Amino acid sequence: MDTRLVALGTNGFIPTFGRQTMSFLLLTPEEAILFDAGTGVARLPEPHIAELVRPYERLNIVLSHYHLDHTVGLSYLPGIWTEKPVSLFAPGEPLVEADAKQAVGKLLSPPLFPLTIDCFPSRVQLTPIEKESLSIGPHRLEVRSQTHPGGSIGMRLDDSFAYITDTAVRPETTELVQGVSLLLHEVWLTDQEAEDDPRAVSMHSFAGGVAVVAETAKVGKLMPVHHHPAKSAEQLSEIMKLLEACGSTPVVFPEEGKVYSVD
Ligand SMILES: [Zn+2]
Ligand SMILES: [Zn+2]
Repeated sequence: MDTRLVALGTNGFIPTFGRQTMSFLLLTPEEAILFDAGTGVARLPEPHIAELVRPYERLNIVLSHYHLDHTVGLSYLPGIWTEKPVSLFAPGEPLVEADAKQAVGKLLSPPLFPLTIDCFPSRVQLTPIEKESLSIGPHRLEVRSQTHPGGSIGMRLDDSFAYITDTAVRPETTELVQGVSLLLHEVWLTDQEAEDDPRAVSMHSFAGGVAVVAETAKVGKLMPVHHHPAKSAEQLSEIMKLLEACGSTPVVFPEEGKVYSVD
């Protein structure tokens, strides 16, 4: 069985235009791994997605950082994931400016939420990510600190998949994602917007810079993610054209609910 990816939430910041916020479900032959838990987690019970997840014994969740567009969906779990266990991997110091247990505890406790993770219907095991390499089942996850307010981590799973979001464009990313089959990289800004807004460029990525990372790292395919909520489908297709014009890497636009082959 091939590794597959289901886009559950592709927006940054705010759900708009029918797009949820960041969450991507990676299904390897051995593990189901959710990269980030934004409002896209709400799509997990959609019948064709629930069907794909059913054979797995547990759900792994890896967080890039704690901003709500990447984490609010953790609070949906008591409503939609009640039987099988959850392994939650969350970044801590020195990789980001947070303590994993404190950050998750703050998000999931009264008065913000009635339940702490110890009281969720399914068992949730929290593992802080404090080193640059860890195992998820038979898989190796490599992580690196990125440039974003409060910090975030970029990730690579084996040689198949990399997930880079909520970061300025960083040349070091090239090394981390070298040769992966599929690179998900945020594209928040067009090159023109990047020129007009230096502050945004210090926190988020622009199309031309991402295209160079993908090209230099010789990735198999590039999927732009963390769409700006103000951008319509037409504006996003303009960004696709920008990315395609910048290099020879095939670009795949993520449609939420659709299943993509990774290898
Ligand atoms: Zn974000
Ligand atoms: Zn963020």
